[in-house]
Amino acid sequence: MPWKHPADVRVAIPSTMSEKADVIVIGGGVIGVCAAYYLQKTGRQVTLLERSSICSGSSQGNSGLIVPSHSIPLPTPGTVSQALKWILNPRSPFYVKPRFDPTLISWLWQFRKNCTPERMRLGVRTLLKLTRASRDLYEELINEEKIDCNYQTTGLLMLYNTKQGYREGIEEGHLMNEHGLPMEEKNAAELIAMEPCIRSDIVGGVYYPEDAYLNPSNFVYQLGDRIREKGVTVREGVEVIGFDTNRSHINTVVTTAGKYQPNHVVLAAGSWSPSLVKNLRLNLPIQPAKGYSVTFDWDGPTPKYGLILGEAKVGVNPMGPKLRIAGTLELAGLDLTINSRRVNAVVQGARRYLNGGTGFSTDNTWAGLRPTTPDGVPIIGRVPAHPNLVIATGHATIGMTLGPITGKLVSEIVSGHQPSINTPRISPTRFQ
Ligand SMILES: Cc1cc2nc3c(=O)[nH]c(=O)nc-3n(C[C@H](O)[C@H](O)[C@H](O)COP(=O)(O)OP(=O)(O)OC[C@H]3O[C@@H](n4cnc5c(N)ncnc54)[C@H](O)[C@@H]3O)c2cc1C
Repeated sequence: MPWKHPADVRVAIPSTMSEKADVIVIGGGVIGVCAAYYLQKTGRQVTLLERSSICSGSSQGNSGLIVPSHSIPLPTPGTVSQALKWILNPRSPFYVKPRFDPTLISWLWQFRKNCTPERMRLGVRTLLKLTRASRDLYEELINEEKIDCNYQTTGLLMLYNTKQGYREGIEEGHLMNEHGLPMEEKNAAELIAMEPCIRSDIVGGVYYPEDAYLNPSNFVYQLGDRIREKGVTVREGVEVIGFDTNRSHINTVVTTAGKYQPNHVVLAAGSWSPSLVKNLRLNLPIQPAKGYSVTFDWDGPTPKYGLILGEAKVGVNPMGPKLRIAGTLELAGLDLTINSRRVNAVVQGARRYLNGGTGFSTDNTWAGLRPTTPDGVPIIGRVPAHPNLVIATGHATIGMTLGPITGKLVSEIVSGHQPSINTPRISPTRFQ
């Protein structure tokens, strides 16, 4: 359903229903479902509103890699020059749809300002705290709730098929290591011995033992079931279309199926979050960054590790008899159209690293929108202008990784406790 500004659709609201609610969570992706889980755990009465069905957005077909190793934010000193080279190549992993869009221009400007070594290091420090805490929470949550999602803690291999790529991968690994994340350099022979699905012409790689992988939609669907069983009201097919405020307090959440009077509101609507808070005059600088995954039957050697194919920027998730590969980052607005040329480039990229496998079919192609901030760090926290609103979005390429810690932080913030990771680097106020 195309998004409409609240002002355009308000006339269609049934005005008769108005329910009291303790906490309203907007959005049923990994972030909203994890927030509802931890909120319920601290004794809150939670209603989760999802305009479609649970896990119908970006959390559905992603690579499912749980990656403390990916704690380098998107803006880095080399990103802009690399992006400019890629932008001219229709098969590259990066694309900006040419258009006049002041929000995109402002976002790109802020992104460029974040491409300094100092800001990158600040980003690494913040993201590593979040990703490592989240990785630990996954372990706890999956065991406690008995979630069957093929959660594997074998670690991740970053693979390189050029000497330059390998050199840069090792530099990245050392940066992570300086911040406390274990990593091991691996030469070609070691990699092939570890993982028979890697081609013999691989140059080298880096092993990150703390990383993990899982089936992302199985995780979110099952956690969705658990929260229902525990008493969270989950309403699918209900779209939030606006808010009424009494001065700064949000006193009504207006939906396509009635109104709620909440004590607290948690905004976890992924890439759709900025348009939703427009009528609150809130600036959430988030661009949707489209990516694709293809999932197909795999008859090559079964991978044991999650893989990142370095130069191609492709993630690989072993899914039993299937393989999922995912990649590309397109700044094309709220548009889920599939560009088959770029999907084929993802597949061709994977072939350059993987040994065997005749399938590589693109029949099951999926597109998702990563909610991306210009400093590469998510937005989690209260908005001073609306004290009963908590924002939880902007997780970009690592939202699956960050689900549990975001949920936990949201529950702490709503309950007025000191957040277990307390840093202004994730606060919405940094953009206001
Ligand atoms: C190709 C690809 C590969 C990726 N691989 C990885 C990976 O390996 N590891 C990793 O950590 N991350 C990965 N990611 C990123 C990750 O998928 C996202 O960061 C994460 O899913 C964001 O979750 P979310 O809950 O914020 O958003 P979504 O999952 O998009 O959920 C938002 C929900 O809000 C709902 N909604 C929107 N508007 C409204 C409204 N008005 N009212 C009610 N509901 C509304 C939507 O329907 C949607 O269900 C990948 C992403 C892509 C695209």
